[in-house]
Amino acid sequence: MFKTLIIISLFLLTACSSPADVQDTRFIMGTLVKFTVVKGDHDLDDVEAAISAAANEMQRIEDMFTIYGNHPNAVKSFNASMPNTPIALPDEVNQLLERSLSIQQQSNGAFSPVLGAVNLLWGFSGENPPSAPPSADAIRAAMPAAHCIKKQPDGSDLHKWSRTHANCQLDFGAIAKGYAIDQGIKILKAHGIQHAIINAGGDIRLIGKHGERAWHIGIRHPRKQGDVVEALNLQGDVSIVTSGDYERFFIYKGKRYHHLINPETGWPATSAQSATIIASSATLADVWSTALFVQGQQGIKLQNHLQQKVLLIDYNGKIYGSLKSNPDSH
Ligand code: AMP
Ligand code: MG
Repeated sequence: MFKTLIIISLFLLTACSSPADVQDTRFIMGTLVKFTVVKGDHDLDDVEAAISAAANEMQRIEDMFTIYGNHPNAVKSFNASMPNTPIALPDEVNQLLERSLSIQQQSNGAFSPVLGAVNLLWGFSGENPPSAPPSADAIRAAMPAAHCIKKQPDGSDLHKWSRTHANCQLDFGAIAKGYAIDQGIKILKAHGIQHAIINAGGDIRLIGKHGERAWHIGIRHPRKQGDVVEALNLQGDVSIVTSGDYERFFIYKGKRYHHLINPETGWPATSAQSATIIASSATLADVWSTALFVQGQQGIKLQNHLQQKVLLIDYNGKIYGSLKSNPDSH
């Protein structure tokens, strides 16, 4: 009898501390996207339908913004357009482009939405990842002018844009994943889900709690695989995104080359190993983690000003900032 009681109380304890999760993983935007939803009182079918709808929405965003693959979209059309010829962009692309250009300015050019030609040349997101850098001449030849894209001023069609030269090519690779996560969360909420995480290869937005507790998130060490730099307990509505030089890279003649490009040079940025931001949306956390990676230590002041939490690991492995919150701020 006593033994049975112990077993029952142990079972209850586990039942309280780890609620039933519904999990699903999809391959979207070149990465594994993991959906975790606390089932609560929902029907399993409803949760699964919510996750599918969120995944479909994220796929729709990938299709709309990607510059890879054979499916046509407006971004690819723009990138192939004749210089100085206005091209209409759909509302959503227009909006993300406006936000991107404003952050390009705020970040002093560290984030650049017109690096498409350079990024394609490096090829980190292509089908055959590179194992050697392009030539310096090829990089120079692919570089865009920083402000090479112009909105048509006539006001008759607010979404028409042109580019000044062929190297001026849009690439939303540093912001579209965050935007897709935000849209995914929006869909989950519209289905009545209040407690969930969308984790797109380490780029995360979470809502609610994990049962009785906060969600537990670990920030990985950029060099020591399996090690965590900070362990966080987060709840409410928190977006947390990392840009790291370990995500897509190769070593060539003893040197690391990665996918985070310094827009001034066209070469991989050498200020950091990883940059993590907590912001009010995944879109913002995504764009600013890329910008902070490029800026390194000198970008921290701006993040403080924007009231975004920062964890920066610089080029030499020195850690700056912390994502830990005051107990009641999240
Ligand atoms: P993320 O992983 O969010 O930091 O984004 C990296 C992706 O954004 C790369 O694969 C490129 O497509 C693109 N990218 C690289 N460097 C930059 C940059 N300085 N500004 C904007 N986008 C960039
Ligand atoms: Mg980013």
